[in-house]
Amino acid sequence: MVTTRRIHGKLKQAMGFLVSLVILVIILLLFLSDFLNPSKLLHPLIVATVILVSAAILFLVDRLGKKLAAIWRQFSRKKRLVVLLSFVGLAILLPLAISFARWENDQKLLTAASGQFLVESQGPLAKGQIDNSLIELEKQLTKLRRLYVKSPPTYRIVVKLYTDSSELQARTLNADWVSAFVSITPGQAPTIFLPTEEGGGFWTKTAATPNPAHETTHIVVSEVLKNRTMRLLPVSFHEGLAQYESLKDTTGLPYRIENYIYLILNKEKIISMEDIPDHHPIENSNDIRLFYSLSYEYVRFLAREHGELSVWQVVQSVSEGKTFDSAFQSVFGETYKNEYQTFLKAFFGYGLPP
Ligand SMILES: [Zn+2]
Repeated sequence: MVTTRRIHGKLKQAMGFLVSLVILVIILLLFLSDFLNPSKLLHPLIVATVILVSAAILFLVDRLGKKLAAIWRQFSRKKRLVVLLSFVGLAILLPLAISFARWENDQKLLTAASGQFLVESQGPLAKGQIDNSLIELEKQLTKLRRLYVKSPPTYRIVVKLYTDSSELQARTLNADWVSAFVSITPGQAPTIFLPTEEGGGFWTKTAATPNPAHETTHIVVSEVLKNRTMRLLPVSFHEGLAQYESLKDTTGLPYRIENYIYLILNKEKIISMEDIPDHHPIENSNDIRLFYSLSYEYVRFLAREHGELSVWQVVQSVSEGKTFDSAFQSVFGETYKNEYQTFLKAFFGYGLPP
């Protein structure tokens, strides 16, 4: 009898732990859903991380809980009421204050966006979906122009929003892997082709994809270049820069982690390639992914080692008439290809064959 009771006790404890773990996982996933898109949310890596973090929290709370309970027992009834009420007040007011501040900021961005962008939606769209795209576009355009464009052009950027991504893909030659793109003709207003962002309801709110910020970065680069063609820059350089500038914020974190893991997994293939591929290797979508991830990490390396401004300084010098190679060399003191080897050594942490 004694042993069965003990087993029952253990079982109860284990069940309790499991139930709390499941609840914690749900809470953490709900919290993350604010930053991640639904498709990313159930990515095995994210789920595994959430479960690990939850288990760690439970472990800590169990220890901390016992200490807190001891302090609580010493409180008078009046003191307990005050503590409880302040917690409830905080729990109600804090989220309200945060949502209000966010809403107000969004309204400001939307007002500014109406002067900068002209939206043409290709398919029926809810206002929230248009707003979500405009907010992301405006944020990035204002931020980058303030830093890098002295006298920005006065055109309104055309934004074509697609509800059906196959329709969007039909507008480009590289149909099957393009998720968004921009069409830039010097002297004319650029056009951005974007899939619609998720609309944000209270429970369904999702962070934007990096698409709007990525394409906007291309436009700002072309503005720095003035009337010169983007072809003066290696594709890996300006795609890497667009990735780098669009994945910086907290919402870019899952993409950054994914990028990093993807490169580590493809280490052998990357090491075996002599240079960074300087064109779109359009053969298959894996190569494309590798190209973007690698370009991103290389530009991130340049910005980290030589400062945020350095990469944009190269674009600036090219706009003043220098070739890319000499512009790069004067900023980084090395050729693009040699610096790439330095990056590989730093990234993978071991000596490469000469
Ligand atoms: Zn791009």
